[in-house]
Amino acid sequence: MTRLVLIIDADLYAVQRVWPEADAFKLAWSMLREGSDTRTVMLKDGVIACDCPSQTMQMGPKGLECKHISSLRDVGLLPRNP
Ligand SMILES: [Zn+2]
Repeated sequence: MTRLVLIIDADLYAVQRVWPEADAFKLAWSMLREGSDTRTVMLKDGVIACDCPSQTMQMGPKGLECKHISSLRDVGLLPRNP
């Protein structure tokens, strides 16, 4: 079995590609934090979004990115300029 794992700060995330149905989105990753919840990061219509509270309520409205988006960019799983 092959697993993709990202470590963000001290948290370990199991990362999996999410395959779109039809043209629902261009690219998406699910990120399961060990012992916790799952976040989904999605590239759609040239915009990258994450469903975590940090992105939806704090960072996103300010035009900033949560740690999930920035870490996926850091390792090349999301484009720098979508
Ligand atoms: Zn996030």
